Amino acid sequence: MPDSANAPARRGEGPDGPVLLTTHLIGDLNRSRVLQAFCDHGPLSRAELARLAGVPRATIGAIIQGLLDDGLLEEQEPDRDGKVGKPGRPLWFAPHSALSVAVGFGDGAVRASLVSARGERLADAEVPLETATATPAALLAAVERAIRIVLPRHAPVLGVGVVVPGVCDTTAGEVIGSGQLPGSVGAGLATTLAERLGVTVLVDNDARAQALGEKWFGDARGIPTFASVQTGTGLGVGLVLAGQLYRGDDGRTGELGHTQVVPDGAACRCGLAGCWETVATLPWLRAQARKARLPGAARATTASLTAAGTPGADALLQAYADNLAVGLANLVNLLGTRRIVLHGDVVGGGEPMRARIEAATRERCLGYLRADVQVTLSALDADAALLGAAGLVLSETWRLAV
Ligand SMILES: [Zn+2]
Repeated sequence: MPDSANAPARRGEGPDGPVLLTTHLIGDLNRSRVLQAFCDHGPLSRAELARLAGVPRATIGAIIQGLLDDGLLEEQEPDRDGKVGKPGRPLWFAPHSALSVAVGFGDGAVRASLVSARGERLADAEVPLETATATPAALLAAVERAIRIVLPRHAPVLGVGVVVPGVCDTTAGEVIGSGQLPGSVGAGLATTLAERLGVTVLVDNDARAQALGEKWFGDARGIPTFASVQTGTGLGVGLVLAGQLYRGDDGRTGELGHTQVVPDGAACRCGLAGCWETVATLPWLRAQARKARLPGAARATTASLTAAGTPGADALLQAYADNLAVGLANLVNLLGTRRIVLHGDVVGGGEPMRARIEAATRERCLGYLRADVQVTLSALDADAALLGAAGLVLSETWRLAV
């Protein structure tokens, strides 16, 4: 670890053997560590930055001044907070700094947003698209149109992040498989859009982007290891392990929904049987609601059953929480993660549903892991994946651990 931006050049290990770690590179490293500290902790004073980024106080001033001069950071009002002594002036990203364009796919539409480093959406666009049947050409055209609507005329953007409900090869910027968005497979999303727009374009899976959105802009900021779980039509999982978004080989991760939890269980849409998805998703919930002859069974959700408040609805919500907990406890037992952030359908159940799922998950965890397990509902929820698309661009641009 270099201890000063002004240290003499020293040697380190590169992929091709020893490399000379120049003063310039050390400066870049220190800058990256400072930006990483903001990403991990939010607004920070210079003293906090020096400590958390592991950059010497003597060096931090010059790095911060450079970032202030670039318009990336701004000083905020002193934080008095009842602390004794000279108050520190927190530094944070300037309101319209480090702009990126985030793209996601929703029900019958492409959504694009212009996002700042603070995670604020400065412009939004929605372009209609028949996601299930669109050809690659139609899909690319709709995405390009949505991006051009939010692209600022007079300010540069760092890049474009596109999140897709499918398996992505993030290195090639290519979608390998997607049931919900078949037109994206092999469409050359990253390369074609980069050529047409003249900016860097990154592509990633939506469940992973959701985790990244929580890490950059949500409640999971500063938590080294956590799982982000999408509930509802299917089950998607994004993992941040020891500070890193986990992609696995070729980006083929996050299919926890298709781990078998019921031997010889019902057939799953994936071709396997007894998958977690067959007992812990909306199709299952609605089938059970029909069996129990609950009103509105065909459109039942966690929110509608919670609002109904009948004993039958209550029993079904408990069974749903128990079934969700089977997969969540497997995650905890495997990873030792203390935090699980839930998105999608169950968020509509509010605190009572959160508490049910947390209790049911703890019951199924090994004793020494149980007390630490915290299940939370995402405050970002539907925006998490879109904000994660912006997080992709920021991480790539600043070469951060995420
Ligand atoms: Zn399956």
